[in-house]
Amino acid sequence: MNEILPIPERVINELRAVVGAENALIDLEDRLAYSIDGTWVERLPQVVVLPTTAAQVGTVVVIAGREGIAITPRGSSSGLSGGALPGRGGIALSMARMRRIIEISRADQVAVVEPGVITGELQRAVEAEGLFYPPDPSSLGVSAIGGNIAENAGGARCLKYGVTGDYVMALQVVLASGAIIRVGGRTVKNVTGYNLRSLFVGSEGTLGIVTEATLRLLPKPRHTLTLAAEFMEIEDAAQAVTAMLMSGVLPVAVEIMDATTLACVEDLLRMGLPLDVGALLLVSADGNHLDGVRADLALLGQVCRDQGARAVQVAATGAESDALWRARRSIAPALARRKPNKLGEDIAVPRSRIPAMVRAIRRIAAEHDLLIPIYGHAGDGNLHPNILCNKHDSEEMARVRRAAGEIFAEAVALGGTLSGEHGIGLLKKEFLEADLGATQIAVMRAVKDALDPQGILNPGKIFPTGVSDW
Ligand SMILES: Cc1cc2nc3c(=O)[nH]c(=O)nc-3n(C[C@H](O)[C@H](O)[C@H](O)COP(=O)(O)OP(=O)(O)OC[C@H]3O[C@@H](n4cnc5c(N)ncnc54)[C@H](O)[C@@H]3O)c2cc1C
Repeated sequence: MNEILPIPERVINELRAVVGAENALIDLEDRLAYSIDGTWVERLPQVVVLPTTAAQVGTVVVIAGREGIAITPRGSSSGLSGGALPGRGGIALSMARMRRIIEISRADQVAVVEPGVITGELQRAVEAEGLFYPPDPSSLGVSAIGGNIAENAGGARCLKYGVTGDYVMALQVVLASGAIIRVGGRTVKNVTGYNLRSLFVGSEGTLGIVTEATLRLLPKPRHTLTLAAEFMEIEDAAQAVTAMLMSGVLPVAVEIMDATTLACVEDLLRMGLPLDVGALLLVSADGNHLDGVRADLALLGQVCRDQGARAVQVAATGAESDALWRARRSIAPALARRKPNKLGEDIAVPRSRIPAMVRAIRRIAAEHDLLIPIYGHAGDGNLHPNILCNKHDSEEMARVRRAAGEIFAEAVALGGTLSGEHGIGLLKKEFLEADLGATQIAVMRAVKDALDPQGILNPGKIFPTGVSDW
């Protein structure tokens, strides 16, 4: 699988016959559009294939297997670990044309969707029925459900509601053999056989291609309120996170933005964010009874004050709350104005270790003379230190690599992990063994070999190769 051989014209014609000539793209300008994702790395596919049915996906996989061609599944390409990059050429299999919401059932509280459905579109559709699909990656305006499942995506609300995998009840998956299977079911309880559904969740397109998902829904909470708490020191903000989680109230979300992040967002939005503080916490509470939600938020605000918050501002209206969350969701474009590229890290540590992790990141930033804004889902210990950089500056990129390695090592030493929600993909695979150890990686390899003996599904991802891809 290592050498990228040209794909014969007869195979291209076969693919065209399966999906239609307009859905098998070989022109360079088309392929370039599928050579990028949310990282700075580029990998060119040899052909882009856009199927519309699981049967078409199955036939494409059979052709690829027969010819030994790599297949890289692709949702909306917002991934931040390089998972959707066709690292070994071959077929970029875009699921973008499979974007039907097949069913929303109020009785069973499930949605049945194709993998290309955009996360935010699904949320709006179920909310129109009084239901709620909680997973909310900040990229929800663009990311697709298939990509969310393959990365087991999280988001701000995951503190209270859990991650994507907690909402996956059943999957239709095309295996590397081309066989189409259904795993899981539509019942609330289901322990029949191995939990293969969970095996595919978070497998980053390396074990099978998701062609349909049955997702668990909840009743939509009637009220959500948000506060912003300003701290002079980021360590105090981190301590406040732990204190809030011990207060007896479980917030929906506790997000953190450090001073550098705030400065970048204010520079972009000019909305009056405080620029003389060490960190800002955004805290939301929800429920069906407004008085109860107000009381919960008041208690959380008091905890922040007790932990040294300089000011606590409760959003009085939905519009004020939306403005605060807009600040949070604007971080990526705001950081892009400082430096052309960034390595968006995604470490997670036990919540009590957030202050230590923050201190370590600041030390590493200073030692390597790098700008590393820190923000993230502080409530679940998932921080996004973003190492700002210029991919054309090789000396700076060498420092970025060293800093990234040290941040990962520190997270693992603190009892944490490499990735809370973005996955391993291409960018983090060389750090995997430090987290999981050789024996666990060997077990994972055995699973991969059993399901994809030829290694055609998203090769070059997750597993360390000893050679860095960036
Ligand atoms: C500004 C910004 C903010 C973000 N915020 C968050 C956040 O808060 N939380 C979070 O978790 N992530 C976040 N992300 C990362 C990213 O949006 C998520 O990882 C998302 O789940 C990727 O979805 P996608 O459709 O873009 O997938 P892609 O990037 O296209 O693919 C991601 C992986 O999924 C695989 N894949 C895609 N579709 C399928 C399929 N049908 N079957 C099998 N494998 C498949 C691909 O091969 C690849 O390995 C953010 C990204 C950006 C750019």
